[in-house]
Formats: sequence, C-alpha cells, structure tokens
Amino acid sequence: MFKKILIANRGEIAIRIIQTCKKMGIETVAVYSDIDERSRHVREADEAVHIGPSPSTSSYLDHGKIIDAAVQCGCEAIHPGYGFLSENSEFAAAVAKKGITFIGPGSDVIAALGDKISAKEIAMKAGVPVVPGHNEPVKDIKKIKKLCEDIGYPVLLKPAAGGGGRGMRIVSKPGELESSLKSAQDETRKAFGDDRIFIERFITNPRHIEIQIMADNHGNVIHLGERECSIQRRYQKVIEEAPSVAVDEDLRKRMGEMACALAREAGYSNAGTVEFILDETGEFFFMEMNTRLQVEHPVTEMITGLDLVELQIKIGAGETLPLAQQDVKLNGWAIEARINAEDPSRNFLPSTGLLTRYSGLRGNNIRLDSGVEAGSFVSVYYDSMLFKVISWGESREDARKNLIHALNRFDVEGVITNLDFANSILNHPQFIKGEMTTKFIDEHYENGFTKVPPSKEQLETMVAASTVVFHNRQKQFHESFKDVIAKVGTSHTPQDHFNYVVKCNDDVFEVELTGIHLGSDWKIKVNGTEYAVETPPFEFYRRRIRLLINGQKQYFRQQYRGHFIWTAFCGYTRVFEIYTPREWRLSQYMPKVEKGAQANVLLSPLPGLVVNILVDKGDRVYRGQDLVVIESMKMECGVASPCDGLVEEIPTAVGNTVDTDETLIKFKI
Ligand code: ADP
Ligand code: ADP
Ligand code: MG
Repeated sequence: MFKKILIANRGEIAIRIIQTCKKMGIETVAVYSDIDERSRHVREADEAVHIGPSPSTSSYLDHGKIIDAAVQCGCEAIHPGYGFLSENSEFAAAVAKKGITFIGPGSDVIAALGDKISAKEIAMKAGVPVVPGHNEPVKDIKKIKKLCEDIGYPVLLKPAAGGGGRGMRIVSKPGELESSLKSAQDETRKAFGDDRIFIERFITNPRHIEIQIMADNHGNVIHLGERECSIQRRYQKVIEEAPSVAVDEDLRKRMGEMACALAREAGYSNAGTVEFILDETGEFFFMEMNTRLQVEHPVTEMITGLDLVELQIKIGAGETLPLAQQDVKLNGWAIEARINAEDPSRNFLPSTGLLTRYSGLRGNNIRLDSGVEAGSFVSVYYDSMLFKVISWGESREDARKNLIHALNRFDVEGVITNLDFANSILNHPQFIKGEMTTKFIDEHYENGFTKVPPSKEQLETMVAASTVVFHNRQKQFHESFKDVIAKVGTSHTPQDHFNYVVKCNDDVFEVELTGIHLGSDWKIKVNGTEYAVETPPFEFYRRRIRLLINGQKQYFRQQYRGHFIWTAFCGYTRVFEIYTPREWRLSQYMPKVEKGAQANVLLSPLPGLVVNILVDKGDRVYRGQDLVVIESMKMECGVASPCDGLVEEIPTAVGNTVDTDETLIKFKI
C-alpha cells in the first residue's frame, strides 16, 4: 500500500480524499494556489505545497508544478479528484513516466474515452446501444443538413471533447443549423481547444441514468448500481439519487452488464461512470463515460456501504477488487443536493464573496461533504460548488424528508446559493412522485422559482412558527421592562390567550395562541386549523429554529425585524407581517400602496406629532425598519420604511405636526 499520496485538487473533494487516506493510514500532501493558502484542504492534509497563483491554469492545472511537488514530497501516487486534471491523459502519462501511480485508468484509456466520438465507437464495439446519430466530426453544412434529415429533428450538436455540458446545441429545424453549428464550434474551441462537433438525435423527455463501475488491473469488473441524475440545470446535475425509481431489477442488470462490457472493451481500470440516457419507452442509450470519481459518488456509497475512494486507492496499488458482483447489495435510498454559490433567479449566475455565516449540520443519516467554513472566500477562480448534503433513508420518502430537514436547518450567508432552490425541488409534487426528466427544472421553474405555491399546511406551518417566535420575542421585550412597570405601579394581568393578524403578500391569516401557562406547549389556530407547537426553552434570536409541530420536528431559518419575520422553510421564503388585532385595525388606515405608487417616500400613516426621527441623512435603511415615531391619540407609533434604500432627505423634524400622507422621508433606492 502507498505511504503517501498527493491530492491534485481542492475544496470538498480534496478533503473527502484526505479522510479516506487518514482511515487507511496513508499520509497526504495537499497542493494550493495563492488564494487557497488558508483553506480547509491545506490544513487537513499532513503536508501542503504551494503551487502558484490563483488562476487554475497557473496552479491546479499546471502538470509540471504538481508532479514536482509529488516528487519533492516523496509521494507514490497522485489522486486527481474530479474536474481539473482528472481526465487529462497527458497528465496521467506524465505522472506515470515519473514512476508515480495515477489513481485512475491508464492514460490511453482516458484519451480514448475522453473523446466522445471514439468512446461511442468503443461502446458500439462492445454491443452497447448508443444514441442514434452520425458519429464523425462534421463541417460541411450541406452534408449536415442531409444527415440531420436522416437522423430526424430535433438534433443535438455535441462537441467531441465536451464536458460540463458545454458547447452543446439543440437544433429543432434546418434553418437554425448553420448558426448553431458556428456557436457550438466557437464555444468548444474556447473551452477545450478543439472544435470537432458530431450529431446525435436529441431524445425528448429522457432521464439521465448512470452506472458506477469499478475495475481492477486483474480483469475484474463490477458495477455498483445506478444513479438518477435527471435534475439538471444547464446540463449540470443539481440533485442526484440512488437507486432510481425508473430502474427495476431487470433494467439494472441489463444496464450494469452493458456498462461492464464497455469497461472491458476499453481495458478500463479504477472507478468510472457510464452515462446513459433512458427514453420514455424504457430504451437506454450510451452517452459518455467519465473516467474518474464523480461528484455524486456519495449516494452510491450510502446505499452500498462501500468507500469508493478506498477502492480506488487499493486498485491503484495493484490490489484485486475485494468484492464480486454478487457481493454488491443495495440498501435503502440516498439523495444528494449540490449547493453552489449561484443565483437561481439570475439564470444560475455564479456569485462570489465571503461566507459570513455557515452552520453545518449534524443528524442521523446525513452526510455533509464540504470544502468551506465560515470565513471562506468564494472567489471567481474555481467551480461554484461549495458543498454537498447527502441523506439516507430506508425508503425514498425517508431520504427525501431527511434531506429537507437538513436543508431547512442549514444556514449560509454571505454569498447567494441555490440552497432554497434545491430544497424546493425536493418538495415539488412531481419530484415526490419520482416523475422527472432532464427538462424538470425548465418545465417546473420560472426565474429560479417553483411554479407550485406552498401547500396550505406548509404555509400555515410557516405562519404558526413565525407567530410563536414573534410572540416570544415580544414577551421577552416586555419582560425586560418588568421592573419599570412595577415601579410605575401598573399591574399586568397574565393572559393565556393572544390574537394576531398575519399578513403575507395578499394573504391575511387570523392566528390565535393559547397556552402561555403551560410553558412551552402551544395551541396555535391558523385560520381555524389547530397546530400543536412546542417551543424551545431558550431565547429566540437564533437564525435557525427548531420547533415541534404536531409532534414532528421542523426546522426553519428566520430573521426578525420589527413587525416583519422572514422565514425560510422547504425551499419557500416568505416575509410575514405580524400585528395585534388593534395594530392591524390601525394599519387599515394606512394608505394602500397602489401599483406603480411611489415607493421611495415614507408617508405619515396618520395625523400626529413627530416625536422622534431614528435615522440620519445618508443612512442605509431596510424595508420594515422603524424610521420615524409619531404620537397620535396618546399613542406612540413607529413608522416603518416601505423599502430598502438610502435616506436622501428628511423634510420633517421632531416637533412638527404632520397630516396623513405627508412626506416624512425621501429615499434613494
Ligand atoms: P457532458 O460531458 O457535458 O456531461 P453529456 O454527453 O454527459 O455531456 O451530456 C450532458 C447532458 O446533456 C446529459 O446529462 C443529458 O441531460 C443531456 N444530453 C446529452 N445527450 C443527449 C441527447 N442525445 N438527447 C437528449 N439529451 C442529451
Ligand atoms: P444562530 O444562527 O442564531 O447562531 P445557531 O445556528 O448557532 O444559531 O444554532 C444552532 C444550534 O442550535 C443548532 O445545533 C440547532 O440545532 C440548535 N437549535 C436551534 N434552534 C433550536 C431549538 N428550537 N431547540 C433546540 N436547539 C435548537
Ligand atoms: Mg456527462
């Protein structure tokens, strides 16, 4: 066995590999670029070597520097992880030349399978069904038109050197061919320095199903079942699961055998994934083979109980596979969510910045593979994936609920992520039924938001959770005045019954709380439906809150500001405005914000005396924040900002009397 391995990668996958090495008693060497100097993978490895500036071309993609580092540190093997150099045949060859083991297949095998055209040839030779099409590079537009007519529209123009979904173009009619071909060529030339394009029939409504295989250097090839990876955005996976609802015992056997046949034909060794497309009729076709460990390997690990990295290392060290096909047992269900620094509402554009909050998680049957921590900087240099949350359950439904709980309680701030987006997919009725194709996100989402509103129960649960938190916060606030009140001599009759009016967008909920004397047990009626809510004994300033609702643990993320509570639950985020019935009646007199009405001014909601102005010119303010205090009918009333913005002008002053609708503050938005 190796004594020391260099890990030619960063982020969560570097850490993942270090963990297995530790378990196996193998020392690890990390490599890092300038910006990664303080990152987790550097700290967790036994040694770390600086390999250059932040751009990956001068660091993580620099063959020479990485191999030098391995030689210097006396490493016997290099694990490439995924991405970066993992499927680079020249790198694999250069590593081997130095007498170091590349943990992966041989460089010629990588080259043959990395090229989608030659991979398809190998598949055909092995008797594996492939997507119908023309398996040669095409250039001449006249010839292409003829070919596409034979294949049948829609067609997919695919780069031979592709990866990460780049450079592919769907063409639905002949008129689009020429421009699509040109843009496909341009994109793949830029991305891969190769502009060979071939044509495939575009399969409509398919599922992406892939088979994990493992092969040693002694002729043994096994498969570890399938993964369903149909939930994709921009041809990239977001949610993966194992097994797949679309695959039964018989189909698994057939796909598995085909994947193994392909691996044998290619002379494959180590871990690999054979990607298939499964059409609506249940026919499957080979798409490509990835000659490395996949991002989504944990779902396979969770249902097989195997450590794929350990198997990779053992195979790399020349050992025979420790198990045969009949020893592979699939147990339960696993689902993974990839959490990326990206904005679903802006077409998944990557977002960068400092992770100001990051609360990981514990939990039974939850696994977190992460490369970041609070204080990590998410830069423009590398992939936007931050971490993966993986759940296991006896059944698909158990795994799904488990992952939803995990995401409900996960708190990340500082960069925009797809966390709530991923969570909403898990809550989507179609996903629950297991009805999905690669078009799932395009079909069911608009601007990054699900088209399905929260269910009555989900929304009422959010209302109940928000109201009880609001109530307890208010209670604490009042209790802090207890001594003052006692001095003044007003006595406070304890109440066990409270009413609130909760507004969320156009919905208004009437909420009734009872149970104050019971301590933490509440009965909360939301528009007449009763929920039993158990609250924690401690303060409510937390961003993550756990409540027992109708006997079930539920997690929420919340932010609290005056009458406003922002709540995230099951992928839905809502702002709730909470009032006592009296406040609510008063607020009815507030001018209604008409569509198109000025939102950049704060108007006085009632006639009265300005007794306090809580902001200065130039201050940044947020919607819901109290800005001005007005006294009217012997009552002080805070007037909240209608928007987020900067205070530009304060046309009133303390001591002024104002009329309804008189301007108090002007904002710059
Ligand atoms: P990459 O190397 O970018 O992963 P793939 O060949 O694996 O390229 O394709 C990526 C995704 O594109 C697949 O997961 C699938 O959703 C879609 N896709 C690929 N080929 C086809 C096809 N012929 N018909 C329909 N969808 C396809
Ligand atoms: P904050 O974000 O306000 O710092 P944290 O995220 O650090 O709060 O709180 C995290 C810890 O508190 C977690 O372990 C979480 O499970 C626990 N926690 C949160 N709400 C509750 C609750 N209502 N009852 C018990 N534990 C809770
Ligand atoms: Mg692929």
